Amino acid sequence: MIVFLCGLSVGSFLNVLIYRLPRGLSLVRPPSRCPSCGRRLGVLELIPVLGYLFIKGRCLQCRQPVSPRYPLVELATACLFTAVYHRFGFSLAGLGYLLLLSLLLAVALIDLDHRIIPNSLVLAGLIAGLILQLPAAGARWFDLPSRLAPAIPLTDALAGLTLGGGLLLIIILVSRGGMGAGDMKLMAMIGFYVGLRGTAVVMMLGFMLGAITGLVLIAARRLTRKDAVPFGPFLSLAALIEIFWGPLLWDWYINLLR
Ligand SMILES: [Zn+2]
Repeated sequence: MIVFLCGLSVGSFLNVLIYRLPRGLSLVRPPSRCPSCGRRLGVLELIPVLGYLFIKGRCLQCRQPVSPRYPLVELATACLFTAVYHRFGFSLAGLGYLLLLSLLLAVALIDLDHRIIPNSLVLAGLIAGLILQLPAAGARWFDLPSRLAPAIPLTDALAGLTLGGGLLLIIILVSRGGMGAGDMKLMAMIGFYVGLRGTAVVMMLGFMLGAITGLVLIAARRLTRKDAVPFGPFLSLAALIEIFWGPLLWDWYINLLR
């Protein structure tokens, strides 16, 4: 329950991040306002999800509808937190996944809205990933409790980073467009968390999800062949699948090859 509530408040912060970061606004000031009329939000309205229900989805002053995406992001983050906690328990590995998946949720929505992947978010993910490796680096001098063990060893993290960033760099050079430098940096960052095998799975899944969605949208005439599809959301979704079902998918794939 506490984990769920933590997720709700982190989700609320992610909403601020998603709205303000690509617009170059400060994350802490000014306090939250209605995007339509600029009215400052009251204390009740700032409560995740309940605040949205309290105002019945409309600004109390200008009556403009408030996007249901705000409470949905809060709920999604809360579910994410609960799922990671159940799977990985109270551990450093779990904390790393919470961080990564929260960042990826923000990245996916910013990429959808603005077609950019902020460097600051990718950098934050990398720095946090490095910090999470610190206890393991000290394990030479003391016994590392299992709670403090990183999800993957540093060598594997660096291998994932190199493979993810390197392959996308090659694709960018070969395809000239379609894929951006933001996608490359994002994939390198994800690779640092999921390692070599995980990176292979994430890239394969990401391309598959992107291709299927593109074909469906073209068939539905919502998109022409020339339109660019943001890739960040697919990489993010693929990373989520890898973290929860990666080993399972890998075994299935290997068995298929035999
Ligand atoms: Zn308003």
